[in-house]
Amino acid sequence: MQQLKLIPFLIITGLLLAACSADDNSQEKATENEDNHTSVNEKQDIEKRNNTEKEKEKEDNSDKADKKDEKGKNKSDKAKDKDKGKVTEAGSKIAEDPNDILVLVNKAHALPDDYEPADLVFPDVRFPFTEDLPKKQMRKEAAKALEKMFAEADSEKLDLFAQSGYRSYERQDAIFAANVEKNGEKAANNYSARPGESEHQTGLVMDVTSPEVNYGLEIEFGDTKEGKWLAKHAADYGFIIRYPEEKEDITEYQYEPWHIRYVGKKAAKEIMSEGITLEEYLGVK
Ligand SMILES: [Zn+2]
Repeated sequence: MQQLKLIPFLIITGLLLAACSADDNSQEKATENEDNHTSVNEKQDIEKRNNTEKEKEKEDNSDKADKKDEKGKNKSDKAKDKDKGKVTEAGSKIAEDPNDILVLVNKAHALPDDYEPADLVFPDVRFPFTEDLPKKQMRKEAAKALEKMFAEADSEKLDLFAQSGYRSYERQDAIFAANVEKNGEKAANNYSARPGESEHQTGLVMDVTSPEVNYGLEIEFGDTKEGKWLAKHAADYGFIIRYPEEKEDITEYQYEPWHIRYVGKKAAKEIMSEGITLEEYLGVK
């Protein structure tokens, strides 16, 4: 009798497990090829599980930070505090206007942890996968510019593909945590961005690629006809190659011919024609 009751339960459990693992496989495929120099294939369910813990941690930390702030204010001049602006736990300056098209995000400048652009859309361009994943999104203005650029590339018979755009703070948090676990915090920070410090969170970035490099995010992309065309024409649409060759001392990132950042046409043309970085254009490190 007991065994008979168990049978429907086992069937349902079996079906559920099958559904979950099918889902996991497609997620794994689709989340491959996110840059920061490593492919991290951690799965959404792990991310969700971790998030609850992290939310808790964040609350604890913000409590601590509040207390620290109060202490600091008692000792020092309040006006001076205001000028300094807010910083992350790691000491990076937090952007005052994260919606600014020229917002600087690097290893010393972060976005607020709760920043998510309000105008994210799915650009109508080719991706090497069909799922409507969040990483397809960009802010509206950047998405429109990307569409125009892809249309022109198409008309010149180029095989440009978009790979990875918007990435949330939480997702970067999970990627960074996985890298820290693998290689330690110091090493992880050399090839991957701390949460808040990935430009992908701005919604102004797209990693692009082509079949010639097997849709990968690799330095070799810069030598393909698509990569060369991109370096030459991206600025006409308001994009820059954000991490150029031989600028590692300024950007603190290796050359990434695939990572394009929208800054608007005026800034893009100046940055690309002068061969400088966004840091140099803005006059900050
Ligand atoms: Zn990128």
